[in-house]
Amino acid sequence: MADQADIAADLAEAAREAAIERHAERLRPPVRVWCVDCGEPIDMARRQALGDAGVIRCIDCQRIAERRW
Ligand SMILES: [Zn+2]
Repeated sequence: MADQADIAADLAEAAREAAIERHAERLRPPVRVWCVDCGEPIDMARRQALGDAGVIRCIDCQRIAERRW
């Protein structure tokens, strides 16, 4: 069962890194390079079109967010 333990350790590690990443994200200035939801780079043209400070998500995540579930 070493494999399952390894997978669990990897998941824990990934979760910890994601938490650190989110924390670091809050400390950054308002200009976003990465989508806050998926972590993908935000399209440069989109940032310029909407103004850097107002863009926190990539276009896909923004579309989902605006749908408001
Ligand atoms: Zn995204």
